[in-house]
Amino acid sequence: MKSKILSVLREADGYISGQQLCEELGVSRTAVWKVIEKLKSEGYEIEAVRNRGYRLVESPDVMSKAEIESLIETTWAGNTIQYFPEVDSTNNYAKRVGDETGGHGTLIVSDKQTAGKGRRGRVWESPAGSSIYMSLLLKPDIRPDQASMLTLVMAQSVAKAMREMANVDAKIKWPNDIVLNGKKVCGMLTEMTMEMDYIQSVVIGVGINVNTKHFPKELSHATSLYLETGNIVKRSELIAETMRQFEYYYGKFVEEGDLSGIQEEYNSLLVNRDRDVKVLEPSNEYQGHALGINEMGELIVKKEDGEFVRIYAGEVSVRGIYGYV
Ligand code: ATP
Repeated sequence: MKSKILSVLREADGYISGQQLCEELGVSRTAVWKVIEKLKSEGYEIEAVRNRGYRLVESPDVMSKAEIESLIETTWAGNTIQYFPEVDSTNNYAKRVGDETGGHGTLIVSDKQTAGKGRRGRVWESPAGSSIYMSLLLKPDIRPDQASMLTLVMAQSVAKAMREMANVDAKIKWPNDIVLNGKKVCGMLTEMTMEMDYIQSVVIGVGINVNTKHFPKELSHATSLYLETGNIVKRSELIAETMRQFEYYYGKFVEEGDLSGIQEEYNSLLVNRDRDVKVLEPSNEYQGHALGINEMGELIVKKEDGEFVRIYAGEVSVRGIYGYV
């Protein structure tokens, strides 16, 4: 009921009478009043004026199931939200949900991770109160070799959502980091569960530094939306916008069976495009000139000897010649 009241207050664009709220929700005035008081205690500024009703003046940067649900406008992406103040890793949780009854589009969100993961066993710093840690569970009807493309679909969605909500020049560092002014603001980790030779589920984990004010000194290449803009961004709104973008671009991916529908836009956001890069493979390292992605999401690099190579987004990292990008 909390998320419904929040949605109605937001849509009202002004005052909405207590009576109208009761009718829309089919509950008593006392029940409405109690929820309004609860919302106020959580930090929402709600004005109550006799004979006019209630008005939502300001909502703080709260992350809660009710807040996210009241903002989500999608058909399936994020249609079920599971929210936790703290979890080991949202990816681990989403995989457990996927093994049980969790359906396509379930979104796991947490305010803090105690064991946040990056690629290749690395750690994702996940303090409370300022960032987004979320994992989207998908049950896609695709081949295992198509799964890595989903990471690129998510990268594009996050970059677009950041541009929309925070008015920043968010770029993608292939395949799956989002950078602002050359620093990392978001990382992703896609994990897949196989059953024989078909995909049982794919989990796309996203960590976004939203209102983070300080980073430990070993993360000198990290930044947050707040540090780049000086503005607080409401995390629940950014989550809802990311789901909206993801649903749109995922639709294009399913339509084509590859990334041909989003390739051009992805390349226009690619920070590595037309730049010299260092390719770090698990047991090999070389330099080249990055040209952009093909429809499979592979990065095309022209090596120093003139040979063109296609890099598959598995265990590879791409860096700038002199630094992170
Ligand atoms: P890269 O090209 O940077 O190696 P990657 O995709 O291999 O990217 P990830 O798995 O996305 O790396 O993230 C893990 C790395 O990100 C860590 O090794 C650390 O350097 C960095 N990192 C950890 N926590 C954060 C954070 N909150 N914000 C930014 N960077 C972080």
